[in-house]
Amino acid sequence: MLTREHLAELDAADALAAARGRFHLPPGIIYLDGNSLGPMPCAAPAAVQAVVESQWRDDLITSWNRHDWVNMPLRLGEKLAPLLGAAPGQVAVADSTSVNLFKVLSAALAARGERNLILSEAGNFPTDLYVAQGLAARCDCELKLVTDGDEVQSALDERTAVLMLTQVDFRSGRLHDIASITSAAHAAGALVIWDLAHSAGAVPLQLDAWQVDLAVGCGYKYLNGGPGAPAFVYVNRSFQQRFAPLLQGWFGHVRPFDFEPQFVAAEGIHRALCGTPPVISMAALEAGLDAFSDVDMALVREKSLALTGIFMALLHQECARFGLQVITPQVAERRASQVAVRHADAFPLIQALIERGVIGDFRSPDVMRFGFAPLYIRFVDVWDAVAKLREVFTTRSYEDPRYRARAEVT
Ligand SMILES: *Cc1c(COP(=O)(O)O)cnc(C)c1O
Repeated sequence: MLTREHLAELDAADALAAARGRFHLPPGIIYLDGNSLGPMPCAAPAAVQAVVESQWRDDLITSWNRHDWVNMPLRLGEKLAPLLGAAPGQVAVADSTSVNLFKVLSAALAARGERNLILSEAGNFPTDLYVAQGLAARCDCELKLVTDGDEVQSALDERTAVLMLTQVDFRSGRLHDIASITSAAHAAGALVIWDLAHSAGAVPLQLDAWQVDLAVGCGYKYLNGGPGAPAFVYVNRSFQQRFAPLLQGWFGHVRPFDFEPQFVAAEGIHRALCGTPPVISMAALEAGLDAFSDVDMALVREKSLALTGIFMALLHQECARFGLQVITPQVAERRASQVAVRHADAFPLIQALIERGVIGDFRSPDVMRFGFAPLYIRFVDVWDAVAKLREVFTTRSYEDPRYRARAEVT
């Protein structure tokens, strides 16, 4: 039997407890949606203010050199690289995840030879599928989707040019084993693209050691870079010479300020850039990355598994009679940092919880998602969130018709 007292003891012994102070968490709110939009790092306003009210205002265009704005995409890339298990020179921060996916998939297809199949899974995040559909149609390729994520390895064949997967299923929180899937894809002669949107900052990654070819991911989820934060792109050094994306922009040119009429790709990860970096957004993201500078990702993983494990155990202990169905894997190696629960009234339940200060989110058709970011979520938060859910059930308050009205963003 779990008790709140026991969870408070876990908080007292938590090696990551101090990191919570690096984020602004509104009083009275239990924020279980950092997997969708991370909270604001306390250092973000000053970082943004420095760019706006000093650099931009006073130093104007000279800031591109004076404050090194021009190198922010690669400088931030190097800050992020350790979280990805990437040696220097392979990560850039730029554009959105969707755009970066277009860059890496187009480059992978350009290097594909005779093969004409992109392999992914039907449950992949929709934007990933949309990007793949667009490129497949224009590159005379077929997009093949397996319905069961465990079948990707057996679906690889001599036609497979690229295996494109997201490590963490955005609905269920299921975690793919990048090492074994990547090596199976390579054995079948395919290139591998990993989308790490729900991985970076939540699970330890070893992209170099796993010999991943290409990867992309999000800046505004577990990396806490702010709404619409720039995303990242990883190009393994061994692939950089062959990396020729369809999106050729001047920031990927070897000499952008020579204004030559002909595109010549820059060396290395530089060629993954396209246009001018969004400096203000970059400054906010840098504050998010700095919050990880002394963080041991092994501890993050350990606490993440404890938080999600306890949440599932408490759902069983406190809410067993309400017809909830947990769809997140129970096995630790198979789950990331979120728990997904199915219920026919998932939408109004989430709305009622939000009104009571527990913020999770809803994913169509009937899934409640709860993200547990180990840098700022406490064990007692897990207790209090489940207690609120139980209260919403026992009082039947979620049946209030006003919880059924849908806003544009869920
Ligand atoms: C959140 C997410 C994205 C978001 O892409 P944007 O271009 O930043 O909107 C892409 N892929 C996955 C798997 C995601 O979870």
